[in-house]
Amino acid sequence: MSEATEETPTAHVVIVGGGAAGTTCALFLARAGITSTIFDHDRTILKRAELHNYPGVAPIGGVAWLAQLRETLAATGMSSSIGERATSLFTEGARVGAASENHRVEGDYVVIATGQLNADFTQSVNMELTEPAQPFVTTNIVVDHWGQTNVDRMFAAGVVAGFPSQAVVCAGSGANVAIGIASTVRGAYWVDHDEAPKPVTP
Ligand SMILES: Cc1cc2nc3c(=O)[nH]c(=O)nc-3n(C[C@H](O)[C@H](O)[C@H](O)COP(=O)(O)OP(=O)(O)OC[C@H]3O[C@@H](n4cnc5c(N)ncnc54)[C@H](O)[C@@H]3O)c2cc1C
Repeated sequence: MSEATEETPTAHVVIVGGGAAGTTCALFLARAGITSTIFDHDRTILKRAELHNYPGVAPIGGVAWLAQLRETLAATGMSSSIGERATSLFTEGARVGAASENHRVEGDYVVIATGQLNADFTQSVNMELTEPAQPFVTTNIVVDHWGQTNVDRMFAAGVVAGFPSQAVVCAGSGANVAIGIASTVRGAYWVDHDEAPKPVTP
């Protein structure tokens, strides 16, 4: 991973939903030098999951997996969270954001990662919704390959964006949105790779 410097272009992203997709998105943004604020009211369906199908990871409870992910994100110092339900989205010129009962946070981009719960709050910006194909899912937001919605600077990831309801898929979709945003912010395709240590030559 290339290190962010003071000259690296950066941005602030407002994420609604801190489950598999939203937290992974924040982590990948942080690795690209981009800060975030996560609204999350702690209703992830990971609370009911026991993950036996997360590749390369021994079976683990959904809560324990998310706790580890949140710990990794916290260690970056690049993301903060608000423990409230976001009730509306807004756009103001080139700025976008979300609001809850007690907070209003604006940024350069918004990512919606609200899982299978009701996403009616997106109607404050006339976001395009569609009928979900999966059972138990309330709403799907219409997105393109990079998670872009019909609203400029607003993206969606995870179950709410129509991805299959498995943690690895939803985490991957959050990472995908982050890479798209990082590529736009940096003005070049963002390649998030860490190199293995060089073998020691005798
Ligand atoms: C019983 C059960 C068993 C499962 N077993 C497995 C399994 O074995 N393997 C597997 O891979 N997956 C399993 N899953 C599915 C897995 O948990 C989901 O695929 C994954 O959590 C979806 O990620 P997400 O980020 O889209 O949504 P979530 O992880 O649900 O995160 C959404 C977050 O958004 C927040 N939120 C929603 N609306 C708002 C709002 N307006 N304002 C603020 N916050 C908001 C919620 O509080 C929540 O924290 C299981 C699920 C269930 C229910």
